[in-house]
Amino acid sequence: MTTNGYLPLERLSKLENFGHSLASAAYLYRPTHPEQVAELFAFARRHGVSITFRGSGRSYGDAALNAGGIVVDIRRMNRILDWNPESGIITLETGVTIEQLWKYVLEDGWWPPVVPGTMFPTIGGCLGANIHGKNNWQRGTFGEQVLEFRALLPNGQEITCTPDDEMFYALISTFGLLGMITSVTLQMKKVYSGDLRVHAWTEPDLSAMLAATERGKDQNDYVVGWLDCTANGARLGRGQMHTADYLAPGEDPAPAQSLRLDHQVLPDTFFGLVPKSILYRLMQPFMNNPGVWLTNSLKYLANSTLGNHKRYLQSHVAFNFLLDYVPNWERAYGKGGLIQYQCFVPKERAHDAFAEIIRRGLKRGLPSYLGVLKRHRPDRFLFTHAVDGFSFAQDYRLTPGNRGPLRQLLSEFDQIVLEAGGKFYFAKDSTLNPGTVRAFMGEERLQKFRALKAQCDPDHILQSDLYRRVMGADQHIADRKSEARNQVTQ
Ligand SMILES: Cc1cc2nc3c(=O)[nH]c(=O)nc-3n(C[C@H](O)[C@H](O)[C@H](O)COP(=O)(O)OP(=O)(O)OC[C@H]3O[C@@H](n4cnc5c(N)ncnc54)[C@H](O)[C@@H]3O)c2cc1C
Repeated sequence: MTTNGYLPLERLSKLENFGHSLASAAYLYRPTHPEQVAELFAFARRHGVSITFRGSGRSYGDAALNAGGIVVDIRRMNRILDWNPESGIITLETGVTIEQLWKYVLEDGWWPPVVPGTMFPTIGGCLGANIHGKNNWQRGTFGEQVLEFRALLPNGQEITCTPDDEMFYALISTFGLLGMITSVTLQMKKVYSGDLRVHAWTEPDLSAMLAATERGKDQNDYVVGWLDCTANGARLGRGQMHTADYLAPGEDPAPAQSLRLDHQVLPDTFFGLVPKSILYRLMQPFMNNPGVWLTNSLKYLANSTLGNHKRYLQSHVAFNFLLDYVPNWERAYGKGGLIQYQCFVPKERAHDAFAEIIRRGLKRGLPSYLGVLKRHRPDRFLFTHAVDGFSFAQDYRLTPGNRGPLRQLLSEFDQIVLEAGGKFYFAKDSTLNPGTVRAFMGEERLQKFRALKAQCDPDHILQSDLYRRVMGADQHIADRKSEARNQVTQ
């Protein structure tokens, strides 16, 4: 790796967010060992350039983008370092993906206890964001499954952290802004079948959806709701619930079969006919207000009439990674891409806040095309996004014509969420501003972050587009960056 000169132009790459609504050029490095990351830290300190880590780039916003700086793609540091099939404890490098992880442990009867809605993120990305699953109430966040990790700090230190250390709760959740987590030891969950017992049914409005989610949090291992954000009036907030439970020992008559990888594989075609790779193109004509209204209405009608309250077995993969059924589904939103807006509101205030958000979107002609409801519990990580309440994730199509009105609408949502005592999640954000971030994080937490930043990263080299947008990076670094860029182009 050449780090003893100026940044080489051939490394300049255009990188995008998952939603394809943002892009920036950065100098891309793909190291294979943490020592090379340490060299990059030294290089960045010498030349005043900034560094961002990037896993699979599955964050919806700008968490893994770094305009004009270095982006360290961690995916070649993807070795499994130790696996104990008796205890379910695994140690791995953080470039390993969730897909690699479940494929490694499942045949021995284990499953990652917390996963996001897609299997493509890396473990580093899951730690950086401290992701949650559809079982957040039951199992907590990804960080809560960690027994120990090693991290490399820009100040040159290499540290090991366990849940007894304060730094444990700071390095997990802070989006790689304090250091790079290089390897991690995780506890897997014992499973006695490759299948989950799933129950699916519809609910007529938002109150019923929230009540069903509340019941599910205590009674089931997983609970998630789909909200039809195009329904208005008495049907506002109607949707479909899914709960899922692990099978007890002995319930699956042939666990060796269901734990096999080929039982988990998602099919290549829909109904054995339509290749999944073209499916997003077939969705494109429906990605507009009437199209989504029609699709949602038919989906709700079909699910509420044709055998409502369906109970069936479904593989872990099919249940957890539903969105991976349609490759490149986000491309269906067209060239402008999509914005995801996920807010977290305490349980007492969630109904009124979510109802107002849906109503206002409909009134402006900007309904969310997908709505997802989950139940959460608070956690002690520094950049926590969770509350004792519900989250509501919404997907908005971005077009040249709706950019301004959509931004205005989302900033009004920010106020609704703040007034309800809610929080936001940087993995899903691309519109928050420093004022809103100060309001939901609180000055005390920001002070603590700044103090740790000064200690771990005194030269302020770890920065990202997200960081500069929501926290306002130090101006002197911006100046040094532009100096460095000028040197590159001279
Ligand atoms: C379809 C879809 C469904 C999703 N569902 C969920 C969900 O259910 N729940 C949920 O919580 N999230 C969900 N997400 C969000 C996603 O899980 C997070 O954005 C996650 O961070 C993506 O991982 P990544 O490897 O792509 O990381 P990237 O997006 O590349 O990076 C994320 C952040 O992690 C930092 N980082 C990367 N590696 C390291 C490291 N080694 N040390 C320290 N920091 C590091 C990066 O700098 C960046 O700030 C979903 C995303 C998609 C696209």
